[in-house]
Amino acid sequence: MDTPTPSTRPAGWFDADDAPPGPDLATCIHCGLCLTACPTYRTLKTEPDSPRGRLYLMRGLAEGRIAPSDALVTHLDRCLDCRACETVCPAGVPYSQLLEATRGQIERRTRRASLARLAGTWALRAVLPHRGRVQWVASLLRLSQAPPLAAIARAMSERGVLPRVMAQGLAMTPAIAPRAARPLEAVARALPAGARMESRAGGLVFHPAGTRRDVVALHTSCVMPAFFPALDHATVQLLLIAGLEVRVPAARTCCGALQAHAGLRAEAKALATRNTAAFADGATFIVSNSAGCGAALRETGHLLHGSPAAEAATSLSTRARDVSEVLAHFGLPEPARTLHAPEDPARPLRVTYHDACHLAHAQRVREAPRRLLRALPGVELVELPDADWCCGSAGTYNLSQPDLADAQLVGKLDRVAQVAPHVVVASNPGCLLHMQRGAEARGMRVRQAHVVELLAEAHLGAGH
Ligand code: SF4
Ligand code: SF4
Repeated sequence: MDTPTPSTRPAGWFDADDAPPGPDLATCIHCGLCLTACPTYRTLKTEPDSPRGRLYLMRGLAEGRIAPSDALVTHLDRCLDCRACETVCPAGVPYSQLLEATRGQIERRTRRASLARLAGTWALRAVLPHRGRVQWVASLLRLSQAPPLAAIARAMSERGVLPRVMAQGLAMTPAIAPRAARPLEAVARALPAGARMESRAGGLVFHPAGTRRDVVALHTSCVMPAFFPALDHATVQLLLIAGLEVRVPAARTCCGALQAHAGLRAEAKALATRNTAAFADGATFIVSNSAGCGAALRETGHLLHGSPAAEAATSLSTRARDVSEVLAHFGLPEPARTLHAPEDPARPLRVTYHDACHLAHAQRVREAPRRLLRALPGVELVELPDADWCCGSAGTYNLSQPDLADAQLVGKLDRVAQVAPHVVVASNPGCLLHMQRGAEARGMRVRQAHVVELLAEAHLGAGH
């Protein structure tokens, strides 16, 4: 691990460029209430793998007592950035902001070359911020899902020929829709009665039937339009039947969450600046259907603090909402269908809800999705024990730290097995894919679904 020479080092290890603020680091009172909330501490039982321990390490860097050794960086890398520690912290330590600023300094000022890291950084820099490139990758993966290639890939995975990261990535990839079915414009073929789509220079505008109740803008994330287009389509349709005008700015871009988690601060800030400009048009709420993206949008004001875009970025942050909050706030009409158990139409559909970390801990949204689910006819909502414990997905964590990610997954699926639902609902696609892969590997017959999917089935009908 390379570190700056002592002669170039200021009082602490951090330089002045975007360092974690000392006063924030000093807010930790070492009470330890966060320890049992932390997934890595629960698994590893070591202080440096706890929030308190990691803060102590960051403070050591800030005070110049230590330098970023391989061991220190490993403890920071093991953090899922799940923010469960923030939920329980009585001192209000802004843990995630401190971690991400620290990772930014380490990423920028130390050399950490490995093939996997280089490939990951390249994807974060050169692929995710470009919708066209993400679509291209999705099309390639779709080819690999066709019968001959899919069988070869499966056989190679089973024989251990593929590197673990690749085998796991392929196992998590959802069935990819044909290119023609992916664009948001395809919603025009299935708009609710009386609604219409308008294509303007600045993007798409969907008008609801009758008098509009308000105006919202939709952020569609980097991977959803390619890998989960039907979810975005259903989101627009639900917002329309709630009476909302939905604007989708053409200039929107990736939220930058994965870049920020990885310490790519300049990239995350550049994306935040572009989104700030794209969503400056005055929509009342900026809606996200991905918990990780929604959390990043809410952090935009903090990320761009002190920049020329700071004021507009704060406006974006204060208007960012999860789709469940917006639908619960405005209300939906009576559902058209009653849902039921897959094996017996006379029995209710047993649903449990997994709190995605970046919805529950980062955005503090817990009740809205549950309220929407409870209101669906035929749904029996059963509480999942430790519903807000991380499933281990955490962006690309399940690829970069597969053993620790699997340890969280095992705990999550054990709890799912306790309540034996037909469906596990979550509001983050990464959680759903990660849990789906784990459930299939265990032979569990349980469907994973986004809250929007169940709402769409009840309100818009099959196939919506
Ligand atoms: S709960 Fe907060 S104040 Fe207490 S040890 Fe953890 S981070 Fe520090
Ligand atoms: S963000 Fe999550 S994994 Fe990281 S220290 Fe906090 S609770 Fe632990």
